[in-house]
Amino acid sequence: MNETAKTKGQILSETLIAKKDNVYEKKGDGIDKIFQYAEGYKTFLDAAKTEREATTELIRLAKENGFSEWSLGFPVKVGGAYYYNNRGKNLFLFRIGSENIALDGVRIMAAHIDSPRLDLKQNPIYEEGGMCFFKTHYYGGIKKYQWTTIPLALHGVVILANGDEIKVRIGEDDGDPVFYINDLLPHLAQEQSAKPLGSAIPGEKLNLLVGGIPYDDENVSDKIKLNVLSILNEKYGIREDDFVSAEISAVPAFKARDVGFDRAFIGAYGHDDRVCAYPIATAIFENEDRLHTTLVILADKEEVGSDGNTGMNSIILRDVLDSISSSLGADPILVRANSMCLSADVTAAYDPNFSDVYETKNSSMISCGTAMCKYTGARGKSSTNDASAEFVGTVRRLFLENGVSFQTSELGKIDVGGGGTVAKFISQLNIDTVDVGVPVISMHAPYEVISKADLYSTYEAFKAFCKVCR
Ligand code: MN
Ligand code: MN
Repeated sequence: MNETAKTKGQILSETLIAKKDNVYEKKGDGIDKIFQYAEGYKTFLDAAKTEREATTELIRLAKENGFSEWSLGFPVKVGGAYYYNNRGKNLFLFRIGSENIALDGVRIMAAHIDSPRLDLKQNPIYEEGGMCFFKTHYYGGIKKYQWTTIPLALHGVVILANGDEIKVRIGEDDGDPVFYINDLLPHLAQEQSAKPLGSAIPGEKLNLLVGGIPYDDENVSDKIKLNVLSILNEKYGIREDDFVSAEISAVPAFKARDVGFDRAFIGAYGHDDRVCAYPIATAIFENEDRLHTTLVILADKEEVGSDGNTGMNSIILRDVLDSISSSLGADPILVRANSMCLSADVTAAYDPNFSDVYETKNSSMISCGTAMCKYTGARGKSSTNDASAEFVGTVRRLFLENGVSFQTSELGKIDVGGGGTVAKFISQLNIDTVDVGVPVISMHAPYEVISKADLYSTYEAFKAFCKVCR
């Protein structure tokens, strides 16, 4: 028997049995492209740590790529590329294709650009024990203990009493000060250490250390607070009551860095969900297909349930589609019915350090490609868009035809937790939708990890989706 001849069993096994491939192994020399794409992503991460900054940065990139500003009620033209800025926190990018939009629908790609963080309360500032603090209210699902004892930066806006808008971004440049949340020294933490992880640091202890030098005047009280306010007044022109109309967030001051000797991974704040926002934006920027109408949604408020008028549980997507349809003289009911959507959100990558919460046969594996989640939700597929076999079939075929490395993913074992995405809000508009995104290690931590190979596969997936036919 020839040494290289395969047995019938080996051939059958290769044909019939599904297996996951590590993208790095499969791509071989293609690793250069993967690493090059990751550089652009890291630059984007450092420039866009909040939904407001992501909106600003993506508008800048959109303009560079020939997109022009559009608003609800404005006309659109076949061949045109537009962006719609919804209140500085939610962005739409779209290209109008030459096909009849009522019959061909829209290729929709949706990611969110908000991430878990600590928002300042409306009356944040106080002084106690020789220190000045800002009170915070956490935003999204965080493990509170992870946000203590790390460098934090402040990002956001203040609207002054006269209506002027002041932008705040401090703690990112090497020369900037950073901010900090205290934790208890282990020597005195006997009681704290015995508490369940979730209650060891209550939300009201997430107070940000912002100052410690008293104002030099014997005639005033709260001198440290006054000194901090005088610095803020000098730098930004703000007073204590201006915090009432402000949105300022404390986010990790870390920069995106390669992780590992071989640089396989990227560590950064807010991969969830900018690791999908960046690929869908670059996919529409680079899309050369002029037949299909494509639309990218960069959503706000996903981490708190998508409520509010910049979140996908609002009527905004429907209004955008209606407005485009009306300009093209198309029936919006048909446009929605013939549209399809890839909801681009992250999923949990299998972590061997916590293997007990994963069901390995249905978890996404790091570096094995972009991950398709047919359903998310919790407690028996509750509160999820469970994509149809037919639509999953369409997307699967598209990925196979375009050589996109993909895998399927379920968010952990049944009944150990769960989660959701914007998919259910889009599918309720009568749009076929499925989740496709990057597997993440330590999701929602101040510093999360993703694989550059999965980032690149996700980019390839969305490039292919832009030109899919119905
Ligand atoms: Mn997400
Ligand atoms: Mn999330």
